[in-house]
Amino acid sequence: MSDHQNPRSPKIFAPVGVVCPQCTSPMVLRVSRQGPTPGVHFFGCVKFPVCYGTRSIEDVKG
Ligand SMILES: [Zn+2]
Repeated sequence: MSDHQNPRSPKIFAPVGVVCPQCTSPMVLRVSRQGPTPGVHFFGCVKFPVCYGTRSIEDVKG
């Protein structure tokens, strides 16, 4: 199975102040493609896969 990312897909950054809980880097919007909830949006660390920090959209919305 090929798992390459589309190089044309733009990064959508999280709002200012929303940073990775593990390394405080900026976060980008991602969509889960596997696991129990495929298609769910969440924010993931820009350093992924070096850093696996994530935050849920609901967490950010407050
Ligand atoms: Zn991080």
